[in-house]
Amino acid sequence: MGIEVRVLGGGGEVGRTGVFLRDSSRSKGLLLDYGVGFDDYGRPMFPEHVKPSDVAGIVISHAHLDHIGAAPLFYISTKPRVVMTKPTLEVSSILIRDMLKISSYYIDYTEEELNEMINSAIVLDYGGEVDLDGYNIAISNAGHIIGSALTYINTPSGERVLFTGDLNTVNTYTISAAEPWPGEVDAIVIESTYGGVEHPERHRVEKRLVEVVEATIDGGGVVLIPAFSVGRSQEVLTMIASEMPYVDIYLDGMPREISRIYLRNSKYLRNPDLFRKALEVAHVVRDWNDRRRAFRKPSVIISSAGMLKGGPALYYLKKLADEPRNAVILVSYQSKDSPGHEILEAGSIADLGISVKAKLMWFDLSSHAGRRGLLNMALHYRESLRTVILVHGDNESRDKLAKSITEALPGVKVYAPMNGECILL
Ligand SMILES: [Zn+2]
Ligand SMILES: [Zn+2]
Repeated sequence: MGIEVRVLGGGGEVGRTGVFLRDSSRSKGLLLDYGVGFDDYGRPMFPEHVKPSDVAGIVISHAHLDHIGAAPLFYISTKPRVVMTKPTLEVSSILIRDMLKISSYYIDYTEEELNEMINSAIVLDYGGEVDLDGYNIAISNAGHIIGSALTYINTPSGERVLFTGDLNTVNTYTISAAEPWPGEVDAIVIESTYGGVEHPERHRVEKRLVEVVEATIDGGGVVLIPAFSVGRSQEVLTMIASEMPYVDIYLDGMPREISRIYLRNSKYLRNPDLFRKALEVAHVVRDWNDRRRAFRKPSVIISSAGMLKGGPALYYLKKLADEPRNAVILVSYQSKDSPGHEILEAGSIADLGISVKAKLMWFDLSSHAGRRGLLNMALHYRESLRTVILVHGDNESRDKLAKSITEALPGVKVYAPMNGECILL
C-alpha cells in the first residue's frame, strides 16, 4: 500500500510541469498538470511520458502553457476527463491555439485534440469537489492568475495530497491571495520558483511604479509597459486606471482578448468593479490608426509581449526608444535569452538595432510567492504534514526552500526530485 508520486516535468526546472500520482490500490493514477517548456531555440519540450491507459483523469492548476500545453496529447488515443476552472479552460484554449500557430511543426497534436480536451472538461469552481475513479478532488484559489487553483486530492486509501501549481500569497489589484483548503494534508507538492528569495513589499513596488508613470506623463513623455498577456497586463491596467484615472491608457496585443475573458469571469477577480472600470476607461487598440495615435500625446501603453519577444510592444519600443522623456517599464520575469533581459543589461537590442535613450526600469510585480509565502503554505499544514516535494524551481531555489522548510519543520521529509524520479509516500 502507498502512494507513488512521479515527477514527469518541472524537476529542477521551471517549465513543462507534470506530476503523476497513483494510489497502489488502483491501477490508474491522476495526472496533475502537463505543460510545455521551450528550449533555447524556442522549440517546445514535453514532460516524460505516461501511458494514456494509466490515467484516471487530469487536473490542470491554471492556464499557463507550462502547466497545460502538453495535455491535449492525451486526446489522440483516449479521452480522459480533465478538471479545471472556467477561466483556465477559456484562457488556455487561446494560448494553446496561439502556440499551435507558431510551433505546430514540433507538436504531435492538432486543434482537433485540443477540442476533444475542451469537450472532456469538468469545470469546477473554487470550493467545488469531484470524484475521478476514487480520487476525490477539491480546489481553492491559488492567487497566481485568474482561475488558478490549489488542488486537494483525497486518494482511495485516504492519503491527502495538496498540489499547489503556481501560487501567490499576497493580494494584488486583480487577484486575491491564495486560500489554503481548510483541512489536513499529509503531503504537499509545491512550486519553488522563488524559493530562495523574498520579493520586496508589494505596496511599495506599486507606489514607486505609479510615481514613475506620473513623473513621465507630467514631463510630457509616453510610458511603454510590455507585459505578459495573461495576468500582468490586467494587473498593471487595473493599478494605473485606479491610481491615475486621468491618464490615457492604451491596451494592445493579446491582452485585449484575454481581458475580455477576465471580464466574463469577473467573479474570480478580487474586485470585479475595479477591473470593469479600468477596462472601460482604457483605449483598446483596434487598428493601425489607433496604434499610431497611442503615442502622439503623453500616455501609458500596455502591450504584449512581456519579454519583448514580439507583439506590438516591439513596434512601440522602436517608436519610443529614442526620446529621453519616455519610459520603458518591464514588469515581468525576463528569461536570460530574451530581448527584455538584453535591454535591461545593455540598454539595447543588438539584433534589432534598437538603442534606448528613454528611461528603462524593471519592477518586481511577481505573481509567484517568495520564500516566506511558500514556507507559510507548508506551515499551514504543520499538524498533519509528513512530506514536501519541491517542483517548478531551479536547483538553487529548491535547495534554499528545502533548507527553510527543514529548519521550520524538522520532522517533515523534503524531496527535490529530478524528472523521472518517483517518491513513495
Ligand atoms: Zn503560472
Ligand atoms: Zn508555471
